[in-house]
Amino acid sequence: MSTNQRIPLSLEFFPPKTQEGAEKLRTVRQQLYGLKPEFCSVTFGAGGSTQEGTFNTVRDILSEGVSAASHFSCVGATKSTVREQLATLKAMGVKRLVALRGDLPSGYGAGGEFHYASDLVAFIRAETGDDFHIEVAAYPEVHPQAKSPASDLQAFATKVRAGANSAITQYFYNSDAYFRFQEEVDALGITVPVVPGIMPITSSTQLMRFSDACGAEIPRWIRLRLQSYGDDVASIKAFGLEVVTDLCEQLRAGGAPALHFYTMNQSAPTLALCKNLGLGA
Ligand code: FAD
Repeated sequence: MSTNQRIPLSLEFFPPKTQEGAEKLRTVRQQLYGLKPEFCSVTFGAGGSTQEGTFNTVRDILSEGVSAASHFSCVGATKSTVREQLATLKAMGVKRLVALRGDLPSGYGAGGEFHYASDLVAFIRAETGDDFHIEVAAYPEVHPQAKSPASDLQAFATKVRAGANSAITQYFYNSDAYFRFQEEVDALGITVPVVPGIMPITSSTQLMRFSDACGAEIPRWIRLRLQSYGDDVASIKAFGLEVVTDLCEQLRAGGAPALHFYTMNQSAPTLALCKNLGLGA
């Protein structure tokens, strides 16, 4: 991509639980559409726990004239329920899926007819041909349950070879992890775009909690600075904006094909980042 070409971006939302949340998200989306996202994706609770909310939010986005991607997790699912859900999404006019294994909350047995995201990707391709553009998840800092970095890379390759068109990464704050992962992917002859997932930093405690759960590393220098701000939210936000802007600049300069923002259903952090990056509305 030449330096004066605008880097494409996409936005991720989660399905709101209440009517009030749905109204708020509607406003947030309108504020973000000025960024001209390639698509907006909506997360899907493992075990289908948010299915109705996910599909309703996807429907809303499509009705607003924006391309929508439904996340789709297969843990605990059967082939017949997945088949039905795919038919529903197709009838809604959805053209893009983010195909995932998902994580069942502790206490749920694994069960189901799919073990890994690669099984889901293969099933979607077998059932629906090329009807959907399929995204899969990638982990530059290695998935927390992987046996080794090498086996995680192989798992990624298996998902892509099963029919994925592109990938979105777990968030990270160390661009070297992304560039190394991209090199390893290139060395395997995999050519699908691997789009960095960008998590704005707006709260210290929330970030620490999320990152522990999903295995994303907060570098020590970032963690210590965030902790030192205590309850000073303005300083946390200002520092977070600076750090994540730098990260995005590094990724763009290093050839990242696009940026995917985890908006957390808020407009201000993503708008501020995009303004700094010259991608403003
Ligand atoms: P997989 O690719 O199946 O990998 C899971 C683990 O199994 C990895 O450790 C991998 O190394 C290992 N593995 C894979 N294949 C094999 C094999 N053949 N043999 C041995 N080991 C193997 N979760 C949700 O519940 N809802 C969402 O909407 C959601 N959206 C996400 C979006 C993005 C962009 C990302 C990065 C993550 C998202 N997640 C979501 C989280 C995701 O569901 C979890 O990270 C989950 O633990 C793994 O899902 P996966 O699709 O990457 O699984």
